[in-house]
Parts: sequence; structure tokens; C-alpha cells
Amino acid sequence: IRDRASIVAVISDHVTLKRSGRNYMGLCPFHAEKTPSFTVSEEKGIFHCFGCGVGGSVFHFLMQYDHLSFPEAVERVANRYGIEIERADGPTGSIQIGERESLYRINERAAANYQKILFTQPVGRTALDYLKSRKVTDEIARRFMLGYAPQTGSGLLDLLRKERLSVKDALRLGLIGQRSTQQFHEKFFARLMFPIVNAGGKIVGFGGRVLDSGLPKYINSSETPLFHKSSTLYGLCHAKEGIRKGDRVVVVEGYLDVIPLHQFGISYAVATLGTALTPDHVRVLGR
Ligand code: ZN
Repeated sequence: IRDRASIVAVISDHVTLKRSGRNYMGLCPFHAEKTPSFTVSEEKGIFHCFGCGVGGSVFHFLMQYDHLSFPEAVERVANRYGIEIERADGPTGSIQIGERESLYRINERAAANYQKILFTQPVGRTALDYLKSRKVTDEIARRFMLGYAPQTGSGLLDLLRKERLSVKDALRLGLIGQRSTQQFHEKFFARLMFPIVNAGGKIVGFGGRVLDSGLPKYINSSETPLFHKSSTLYGLCHAKEGIRKGDRVVVVEGYLDVIPLHQFGISYAVATLGTALTPDHVRVLGR
């Protein structure tokens, strides 16, 4: 997997690298610096920072940068290069999936379910009509994985049980609320759903918009282990290529500002999520 991967390409997702002789240089993401001492060697498949001493393979980079375990880092790189991983069952026959992975899995399944309701169920009709009235095409709605959470719920709890996903994790993700020991309810209902996707393409949270004049107009996921409002930018995954190519970014206010811009070819637009622009946002954009 390491041989197939380009360490320069993987690190470039997070650090701006410039060619310098046989190597690439950039500002180290692991310590604060103004002159680059972070080097990446494509030939050797390693990175090293002369400032703080971190270094290693593409896997070590992801482990430190995204706080992944070694198997998670290997899996991430393998997925990117379309390499299938065969899992040998451990002595107990069980497979440990990283905790974060199981949280992402729930967000993914919830998003797919909201999307299915929007596009295939009668109850999604009003939401589709609303999108049409805002001139959002089906194609772009699908690209941004829009969905609908009906008034009566999306059936999320049944889905979790059926797929043996953890209700406790769904609580942590703010998708489910709890009234009493055995009484759960969906937090998002009667809302058009906007999955919030990080730069790596994983769903970290959701925004929900009412279709009428109800208030609040928008609600977002609360802070969770995956979602930090002050450093998250809506649309970044779709915009990162455009930002890199054009070396520019447009920051707008909300979901329905980003989506039409992308629809009309302004592919370098992102939005903050109901907050002012923070230093963390700027840091993310800088990368
Ligand atoms: Zn460093």
C-alpha cells in the first residue's frame, strides 16, 4: 500500500507543498513556524520536520495528523488508491473497528436514509419542490447528498437497530435525543437535511432547514467528537480542488449560498456554519 501511495499527494491534502530540488517543502502542521522546515521525499516515501523532529511514512503522517490508529491509517490510504484490504480475523474472531469509524458509519447511514426519503418517497415531495423553487437541480442536490427528515421521523431508530449500530453513538452524534431510559426520539424532523462533509469526504454532522417560515430556520449538529463548528467549513470537500487550482476561496454564509455557486461553476465556495469566521477556519483554508 505504501508503494502504491504518493506521500506527496496525501500530505498535500493538508499541507501546501512546494518542490525544492528532489524533495518537497512546506510549513510543518505539527508545530508553529514561519519558514518551512517540513520536507517530504516522494522517492523515499517519508516526511521529516527539521524543526520539531516528527517524521515517518505516509501512515505515520495520517496517524499524527488525524489521530488515527495504524490500521485506520492503512485503511485510509488503501481506500484512496482503491486497494482492497483482506482482514484476517483475530484470535477471538472479532474485528475491531475504530471508534471514530463507527461514528462516521452512523452519519453515513443516516444521510443515505434522509436522501432516500427525499428522492424516492412521497413525503419528500414538498422538500424536492422547495429545492426546485430555489433552482437547485437534482444533480447538485445529489452531489451534496441532500436529504429530508419528515415530520414523523426518518425511521432512524429502526435503521440503527436493524443494522446493529449503536443508539448510544447516535446520541453522541446528536441525531437522537433521549427523554427517559427507553424513550428516544429523532432530533431532526420536518427539515431539509444538509450533510456536513469534512475535507476527507467523511460526514461529520448535519444541518437542517425548515421548509416553511418555522423557527429556528436552521439547526446544526451540536458539538460532537466529529463536529467542531468553529473549524468546520461547509462544502470544503467539494471545493478543495477548486481552491487549490484557483488559489482562491469564496466564503459565504450558508448551505444554500454554497450549493448554487457550485451549480454555476464557482467551485471554490465554502460556508461557515452560523458562526463568524474564526482563526481555525482560516487555518483550515490555508492548508
Ligand atoms: Zn515540525
